[in-house]
Amino acid sequence: MARVYNFSAGPAVLPESVLQEAAAEMLDYRGTGMSVMEMSHRSKAYQAIIDQAEADLRALMGIPDSYKVLFLQGGASQQFAMVPMNLMKNRVADYIVTGQWAKKAWQEAKLYGQANAVASSADRTFSYIPDCSDLPISENADYVYICENNTIYGTKFWTLPNTKEKPLVADVSSCFLSEPVDVTRYGMLYGGVQKNIGPAGVVIAIIREDLITEDVLPGTPTMLRYKTHADNGSMYNTPPAYGIYICGKVFQWLRNLGGLEVMKRRNVEKAKVLYDFLDASRLFHGTVEKKDRSLMNVPFVTGSQELDAKFVKEAEAAGFVNLKGHRTVGGMRASIYNAMPREGVEKLVAFMDAFESANR
Ligand SMILES: *Cc1c(COP(=O)(O)O)cnc(C)c1O
Repeated sequence: MARVYNFSAGPAVLPESVLQEAAAEMLDYRGTGMSVMEMSHRSKAYQAIIDQAEADLRALMGIPDSYKVLFLQGGASQQFAMVPMNLMKNRVADYIVTGQWAKKAWQEAKLYGQANAVASSADRTFSYIPDCSDLPISENADYVYICENNTIYGTKFWTLPNTKEKPLVADVSSCFLSEPVDVTRYGMLYGGVQKNIGPAGVVIAIIREDLITEDVLPGTPTMLRYKTHADNGSMYNTPPAYGIYICGKVFQWLRNLGGLEVMKRRNVEKAKVLYDFLDASRLFHGTVEKKDRSLMNVPFVTGSQELDAKFVKEAEAAGFVNLKGHRTVGGMRASIYNAMPREGVEKLVAFMDAFESANR
């Protein structure tokens, strides 16, 4: 068996111990004589799995009782529509556009009402986070929307915007569980789990209870109402059962590690290995403003498309895979999520150093 160092932006690396546990339980989940994949979601065994997953997530993030935790499907992209359908009571919302995912969410919201871009970093190809301390928030905005960690460009909101009392809605797909968060600062946060938590197919939404109402936009399908899922414990219909089971294992892995404080410290140290190298390198350069750097997604370039391509190819042959930058931005991107061991980043940096010596 040869495992590679997988720097994919998503679906992405998972903790090896989680995969091993899942493998051990594949044919017979704890004496049930079946795989979790084959199990009724109405069974006692499965109810225990989803209950434990929710309890562990609540413990990890310190989610107050006044927030619901929903396990949904449709990818993070489906939330781009579900958020306005459920929350745009006045049909007005303010969006902060810091990358492609925020832009897609903003454009989708325009299908439902007046979606204002109150700030943007498009002027410098999304290489920074704009100052959001005093934005022209609309008087009747139903919410203010951000993409907290910009997976493609590698920037992160280190200070949440001043929403002037409006609920903050955040797409946290690529920074979910990478650090402690104060959930009470958000009206809602959500993310697809395939970046930092589990297999594609599950979206976790954490929503303040008072925002979950029957007062949704006319025509909102039953399946796209938060209330439907909140009232039914995420089991209105068949949930993405196996995916939730793996998420639960990752929550346990995080708890056993010491929780999100410990995870953040590890992530800071791990990212520093790569950023320090980039700052000292005469060949490789980071592409975003230092103060806004993501701990999870690290884009970099050599300045030459040919060298970039050569690097990606040679890195792959050496066991460092999925380093090619997003198809829309080029260059390289190393996604170094929770489950990427520090050793993987150290070895990548050693490889980059050798490549630099050979190619300058
Ligand atoms: C990957 C990603 C998405 C899209 O997720 P899907 O599950 O493919 O819809 C949205 N937002 C962010 C921040 C992402 O990283």
